[in-house]
Amino acid sequence: MARPNILFIMADDHASHAMGCYGSRINETPNIDRIADQGIRIDNCFCTNSICAPSRAVILTGKHAHINGVKTLGDRFDGRQQTMPKLMQDAGYQTAMVGKWHLGEGGNSSPTGFDYWNVLPGQGDYHNPVMLSPAGEQQYSGYVTDIITDLSLDWLDQRDRNRPFMLMCHHKAPHRWWEPDDEHASLYAAEDIPLPDTLFDDYSGRSQAAKEAKMRIERDFMYRDLKLVPPAGASITDTIEIPDDLTDFSLRPVDGEPVGFGSRREVVEWLYQRYIKDYLRCVASIDDNVGRMLDYLETEGCAEETLVVYTSDQGFFLGDHGWYDKRFMYEESLRMPLVVRYPQEIPSGTSSSYMALNLDFAQTFLDYAEAPVPDDMQGRSLRPLFRGESPTDWRTSMYYRYWMHLAHHYVGAHYGVRTERYKLIHYYGEALGTSDSIDESKPAEWELFDLKTDAAELHSVYDDPAYASVAADLKDELQRLKKEALDFE
Ligand code: CA
Repeated sequence: MARPNILFIMADDHASHAMGCYGSRINETPNIDRIADQGIRIDNCFCTNSICAPSRAVILTGKHAHINGVKTLGDRFDGRQQTMPKLMQDAGYQTAMVGKWHLGEGGNSSPTGFDYWNVLPGQGDYHNPVMLSPAGEQQYSGYVTDIITDLSLDWLDQRDRNRPFMLMCHHKAPHRWWEPDDEHASLYAAEDIPLPDTLFDDYSGRSQAAKEAKMRIERDFMYRDLKLVPPAGASITDTIEIPDDLTDFSLRPVDGEPVGFGSRREVVEWLYQRYIKDYLRCVASIDDNVGRMLDYLETEGCAEETLVVYTSDQGFFLGDHGWYDKRFMYEESLRMPLVVRYPQEIPSGTSSSYMALNLDFAQTFLDYAEAPVPDDMQGRSLRPLFRGESPTDWRTSMYYRYWMHLAHHYVGAHYGVRTERYKLIHYYGEALGTSDSIDESKPAEWELFDLKTDAAELHSVYDDPAYASVAADLKDELQRLKKEALDFE
């Protein structure tokens, strides 16, 4: 069997609970679902550090953040190190990177290991984006998700058909500021999106870290986030504040009339609708464009011999726990979607509950490329899981670490372990000299969740004597994983 092409589509901040194939209650994604229907859905894929650039660096290197050098958004990726794309190129693959790179540009941070690259600088823009390639900057007119797809298809069209390819088609959407295109701007206009069960979470039963985080729908959105006109004297980057007395309070969409409210709860629900509809509109455009890519493979007659991967760099809070954003080790943020199709090898309509990590992607692709895997990579090829095998020695726990202490949304640095049933999180309360962190000490805290009895993670049982031995075992496991990951900080 010839080595497969690899089409690696990745979105930014697309949580699995906004995908039909994962049972979304809030939207439909028929094209992404085609990948799952014709291949496999991985039900427990997690990221090792739930934030954009760090997750991308893990994917490129197959190494944890403290090894690859990108622990925070403030760290620049050093492309002189060993990377999966360079190894794929060495193995004879033609390689391309189109879209969101977000690992810095210029110097040693520009993409390496690609025959072709054309990327957004930084976060990039949704509309008429500037893109960077070895030829320099160019502005494109149109919507970013369409443009990334167009450029990906253009590259596929001119490729050498006698050699396999690896194309990284990495979307900016649905990252904040959640700006939809005209085609999807009115989607959901006439309906309400169901509310998440924990929208009105009061954060009791958990750490101060959860209470103190500044990512609440109720209090931490900017006017810009929700496309609202700021009141006189305020700017679009000011925070929306809901007064106690709502008599004279209203919010005005940039595209509509001012809206008044009868209760605080009504305001929060309205803010949630503003947020989630734009997020889902951005997702709808990705889904359409995934369909275009899949159709292209069919037309080209290479769908059978192409491994198609759809994932996101991490999960996202979609109003869950009253939040937007990510960073925390809680499920909605930790969990990555991962659906994969490769008809020659992967049985259709299957799923796997084995634990997969972003750390595994590099080794997985090298495995399909029949390329040697360097000893210093820290993950494991997912190919046996994709084939439907049940390995007896698979991991049953994973190590997580978020390094950006209190910077951006005031989320404290933490590390933790997740097993099939439990999750232990330690907020260690220090910046430890890490870049893009605030040097402010906080009391150390622990949280322990029993995911079997508390899937929503509302009640830490860390102080419950009934869980004392579970907590002790998890602390041992956390230390074992930390050492195994070569994290000695
Ligand atoms: Ca992201």
